[in-house]
Amino acid sequence: MTAATGEMNLILGIDLGTTNSVVAIVEGGKLKVLEESGTAILPSVVGLDERGELLVGAPARNQYVLFPDRTIKSIKRKMGEDVTVTMGTNQYSPQEVSAIILRTLKERAERHLGFPVRRAVITVPAFFNELQRDATRAAGELAGLEVVRIINEPTAAALTYQPHPTDPETLLVYDLGGGTFDVSIVRIERGVVEVLASHGDTQLGGDDFDQLLLNHLCDGFQREHGIDLRQSPAARSRLLHAAEDAKIRLSDEAVVSVEEEFISEKDGAPLHLQVEIHRGEYESLIGRLVTKTLKHVDAALADARLNATDVSKVLLVGGSTRTPLVQMVLADRLGQPVNSDLHPDLSVAMGAAVQGALIAGVDVGPVLVDITPHTLGIEVYGRVNDSLTTHCFSRVIHRNTPLPANRSELYATCADGQEAAHLGIFQGEQNDTRYNRKIGELRLEGLADADAGNEILVRFALDLDGMLKISATERATGLERQLTIENAVQRGRRDAKSRADQTAAAETSLRDDLESNEASAVVEVQSPEVAAAVQRGRKLISNGQNVLAAANPEDAEELRDLIERLETAIAACDIPSIDDASASLEDLVFYLQDA
Ligand code: AMP
Repeated sequence: MTAATGEMNLILGIDLGTTNSVVAIVEGGKLKVLEESGTAILPSVVGLDERGELLVGAPARNQYVLFPDRTIKSIKRKMGEDVTVTMGTNQYSPQEVSAIILRTLKERAERHLGFPVRRAVITVPAFFNELQRDATRAAGELAGLEVVRIINEPTAAALTYQPHPTDPETLLVYDLGGGTFDVSIVRIERGVVEVLASHGDTQLGGDDFDQLLLNHLCDGFQREHGIDLRQSPAARSRLLHAAEDAKIRLSDEAVVSVEEEFISEKDGAPLHLQVEIHRGEYESLIGRLVTKTLKHVDAALADARLNATDVSKVLLVGGSTRTPLVQMVLADRLGQPVNSDLHPDLSVAMGAAVQGALIAGVDVGPVLVDITPHTLGIEVYGRVNDSLTTHCFSRVIHRNTPLPANRSELYATCADGQEAAHLGIFQGEQNDTRYNRKIGELRLEGLADADAGNEILVRFALDLDGMLKISATERATGLERQLTIENAVQRGRRDAKSRADQTAAAETSLRDDLESNEASAVVEVQSPEVAAAVQRGRKLISNGQNVLAAANPEDAEELRDLIERLETAIAACDIPSIDDASASLEDLVFYLQDA
């Protein structure tokens, strides 16, 4: 192919998103996502600066909170409607605003290629009606593009994953972005994709997670200082950024800290916000919204007249699918692992470019990112098949996580005065470590003299070459030990079953150790679930003790009984009993505080 025909054939792939937009091309048989200023993502925001100059992307997004009257975002929600939007003193149709975004992406491609580009494939949600599709086409034309095809976003994701499987495959594409959610069931065969069913919620996405976290931060601040930060636009805007940042970090970190200095003032003295958020706490805030997406998954499957078992692959699209809870809940509902080997932010634009290449007659293979083929984690004291054991596998980096991967989890010591924490490092998919492969061990010695529940932060960092770096840190003191395992994803050849047989005989129950007088010899750590239940229980015991003195004799006796029940349950690490006693104690403390 000559340079000239190459130029004529080139078709841009454009993901024109509600929050962000991306452009990709196939150049020399290879897919390329085009970046500028170090990022491929162009925020779908348009604005005018104080001199009336046009702003597109990050600069427009950054001025939105301060100058909403001259900034337009989420214009995709209005596509196909007969309305105008105001920016400064001018009126624009949704097509005109979208055209500004599309022209910016076209110019980016032209700067990269060094010649003009005329043709594009643009993606739209599967639920877009004809009016919305026509408006998108018109926006492309206003931007100087011939829109050779409008394709559905799930179709694009499927094309990125597998442009031309010979046997038909049924894929479930779960797309959770910043402002919208949809799930589609698609069937693909030899480059032809059919959307069998699609469901979603155009008002649900990562922005809602930010909002919940923002409220959580503001509620805490209000309880402490009596000031509602939501009432101050400047504080609100800072906190919204901080909430999104914390949310993104919580996808990898077990606990993050949010610090905003001089966020407010009281009696002339500055007030700072400093809060620690545990992943579990964040997950309980967003749990209801995540579960809500499952209703749509069920509805899409029902519409396609399929069961979860008919789905051969689950593809994740949209930045919010990086949230571990989202992946866990979805895998659980569908009874199969979810695939993270597509790039969640870029795969739709990539798929549009693949479609463009197919139209132009250029061949291109699937575009997958490197993932870890096995789950990596540690051996802890926790629940396996309803019984407590020291062989519970606690997952740190899940199978299918894109590389490089960096994850942390929070554990806690099991016994009062525990001097060391022993971490067996395992690879595998079973809940019982005896059926997985041991790939290393790490011992953190010299722990502070503390009650059970002393927090140990464990971090795993797995690089593209399969090298795993593990660190264990006692949070209270910063005491740390590290271990590096070369080639972690291939090690541990010992037959897992024979290991299970050997260790079954030698198994000792932690409960026996706890009941004996040698508690300080115990070296396991508790699973995050046990640790969280114990932590909550201890906090409630302390709250209960605080209200004891003021309670009447009858209530005081009930309080003492409940505290004792909870202490017994904590000593036995019995989560259901801890939860049960915690709930009763919480109710009583609440009642007494209120009285
Ligand atoms: P999209 O609309 O697909 O560009 O997705 C944007 C949304 O993904 C925003 O709400 C982001 O805050 C969110 N997001 C991006 N990265 C992450 C991450 N690592 N974990 C959780 N959410 C993320």
